[in-house]
Amino acid sequence: SELPADPIIENNRRQVEEACFSFVTPQQTKKPELIHVSPEMLKQLGITEAESQSEEFLKVFTGNQVLQGTKPYAMCYGGHQFGNWAGQLGDGRAINLTEIEYKKQHWALQLKGAGPTPYSRTADGLAVLRSSVREYLCSEAMFHLGVPTTRALSLAVTGDQVLRDVMYNGNPEYEKGAVVCRVAPSFLRFGSFEIFAAREDVKTLRTLTDYTIKHFYPELGPPSKNTHLAFFKAVSERTLKLIIDWQRVGFVHGVMNTDNLSILGLTIDYGPYGWLEGFDFGWTPNTTDRQHKRYRYGNQPNIGLWNLYQLANALFPLIEDVESLQAVLDDYKTNFESQSLQMMRSKLGLFEADESDLQLIQDLEDALHSAEIDMTLFFRNLSKFEKGKPSNGLQLINEAFYNSAAITSELEAVWKRWFKRYAERLQKESESDVERALKMNRVNPKYVLRNYMAQLAIDDAEQGDYALVDELFNLLKNPYDEQPEYQKWFAKRPEWARNKVGCSM
Ligand code: AMP
Ligand code: MG
Ligand code: MG
Repeated sequence: SELPADPIIENNRRQVEEACFSFVTPQQTKKPELIHVSPEMLKQLGITEAESQSEEFLKVFTGNQVLQGTKPYAMCYGGHQFGNWAGQLGDGRAINLTEIEYKKQHWALQLKGAGPTPYSRTADGLAVLRSSVREYLCSEAMFHLGVPTTRALSLAVTGDQVLRDVMYNGNPEYEKGAVVCRVAPSFLRFGSFEIFAAREDVKTLRTLTDYTIKHFYPELGPPSKNTHLAFFKAVSERTLKLIIDWQRVGFVHGVMNTDNLSILGLTIDYGPYGWLEGFDFGWTPNTTDRQHKRYRYGNQPNIGLWNLYQLANALFPLIEDVESLQAVLDDYKTNFESQSLQMMRSKLGLFEADESDLQLIQDLEDALHSAEIDMTLFFRNLSKFEKGKPSNGLQLINEAFYNSAAITSELEAVWKRWFKRYAERLQKESESDVERALKMNRVNPKYVLRNYMAQLAIDDAEQGDYALVDELFNLLKNPYDEQPEYQKWFAKRPEWARNKVGCSM
């Protein structure tokens, strides 16, 4: 490898210095069983369906067999958790099996939940079925939504029992162990760079940065101070693009610590993530963040910037130019304003730019806040709006209200006024209603992985029934298509699922 390896082979928990990774062998499991394999990912990797059904595939992707000629490893990284420097974190429960090249695309194959590593600290290195189903389904769903993300190849149960302090009742309970094989060009994070800066190990920082540019940002050219700055700029732009996409589809990551921000601008680490149901900038799926709500929906763009400040600090020893770094960060802010506006225009089917758009959008957001309104249903149904019939607007979105009793005559008047302005604004567009609907339906998904949907699939999976995992997996391959056969999933969250959130552990 071109990156420095930890010379210690023993798998004990420790501080690993001047190295980017440690070799570690996945742990054997009791009774591994495959639950699901992603056909799209198989194809990307050049693995046939038949091969995926082999004993070898099962063993390799549950950590029970190490492929010949490969040396699995866990990566060293640090991170800022909830705003505080946390020191060394690292792959505590992720093990990279190998990296492959297929059709000119580089892929790292990583098992999550395959046993402890030098970075496991006080935890067990394992994952449970619940969190693994959530990561498996959501990461593939994000890919099909067109949002940059790590992928998932396979989901398996291990046959082992894993002890978890379940947050909602406070008692430790045994749950089924599981392993997901995640796939990405690279799993490097902001924290991968921060750890070396924090240790004042500029040599390894430089090696890692040059390696990252060479393999993942080759368009930036051979390493120099200029390419290091250009690298920071490229990461900043990808991060912004990613977060704009999250805002568009109503995805809330939940734990945007710097160790969970990909250096490639991918969605990474599906923990207590969630999807907006009632439109609410203040919403977070993370129960451990309910007080400060640092990682709430409306704060994701700011946190992206905060994290980029930490990355700028980490790369500073290589760049040594405060003004240029600051200029990149300032660009993030201005680009956010313009890209966010552009994204919201696309959700409304506005393809021209009009000065009044920002106000129209802000007033819409206020109106969406004023009553609990389902974001996905609202924008999807809005595509049926006819610009000649503004008075039909409210009726179109009626089913998106969680509490129809809350629709006062005052609120009705607010909406009527807004639809009237929207209709007037649409007169300035050249698209017909039908053309506009088609375009809107490519940016406003009909189907997202609502928390209750994942929970239903998990409940069945706990009983050994994986049919719903498969159904949701297939449904979410075409999130922008009508798919009338799946219409029951185009619905508000049922009342029983209110306040039920997913757990990350
Ligand atoms: P996360 O909040 O999921 O990003 O995790 C933060 C850190 O804790 C990372 O270094 C993880 O590898 C580590 N970690 C989380 N869960 C476990 C676990 N069950 N065993 C070992 N390490 C873990
Ligand atoms: Mg993480
Ligand atoms: Mg996690």
